Amino acid sequence: MLGARGLTKSFGGFVAVDGVDLAVQEGELRSIIGPNGAGKTTLFNVLTNALTPSGGQVYFGGEEITDVPQHERPHMGLVRSFQSNQLFEEQTVLENVRIVAQTIEQGPFSFDLFRTGRRVAEEDAYEILERVGLAEQAHESAANLSHGDQRRLTIAMSLATDPSVLLLDEPTSGMGPTETEETAAMIESLQSEYDLTLVLIEHDMSIVLSMSDRITVLNRGQVLATGPPDEIQANDAVQTAYLGG
Ligand code: ADP
Repeated sequence: MLGARGLTKSFGGFVAVDGVDLAVQEGELRSIIGPNGAGKTTLFNVLTNALTPSGGQVYFGGEEITDVPQHERPHMGLVRSFQSNQLFEEQTVLENVRIVAQTIEQGPFSFDLFRTGRRVAEEDAYEILERVGLAEQAHESAANLSHGDQRRLTIAMSLATDPSVLLLDEPTSGMGPTETEETAAMIESLQSEYDLTLVLIEHDMSIVLSMSDRITVLNRGQVLATGPPDEIQANDAVQTAYLGG
């Protein structure tokens, strides 16, 4: 569903992503882990063409999309989650989900990724909010939400764009243990309800190990190991490089 071959990104002489091969299957939940500076965010950036790769290829649904511009990828179904700073804080939670849809229809202001496409009806926006556990806050302004609820809202906004592959960058960052668990459970249920392929950058190892179908470990820009959680936990190189021996 989503793949890379020899994907590389250099900044000057520094190679942040170094010949990464990736093959994420349809319906898979793949976590990307690795120490700070391993290249996880840069990998997302080259997969979405937010940054132009220095080398290698990106594949989506079996087709090479390396040169497809960033703004065209959501229309193909390859979507990276919105960031909290992309919320319309003065608007209601419901409007935030609908604004994305309207923006799809009316053309860009800040959401220039979504120029054309389908419009999400109010009831569909509600349904998405129910799925992410925000239906009760539908008419509150986004600014009034807790940090965790704002993160959930960004996921709701991403779902409104009808992704087939959704990239989530640290969806539980800044959350306490209970909220982290709730968000992990929510993400797992979304995966089956929306038939999603999910690629997650996540630092919370307990949820990575419990949720992932497979885990890719990055270290110094390279793939150190890819495999199911039990295999990754037992991998000596991973233990040494990342899990602290
Ligand atoms: P991670 O997400 O795993 O913490 P990053 O992808 O953010 O790692 O960063 C990988 C490495 O690339 C880091 O050493 C970082 O300093 C470097 N890097 C990231 N973006 C840039 C950039 N725009 N210019 C120069 N170096 C960068």
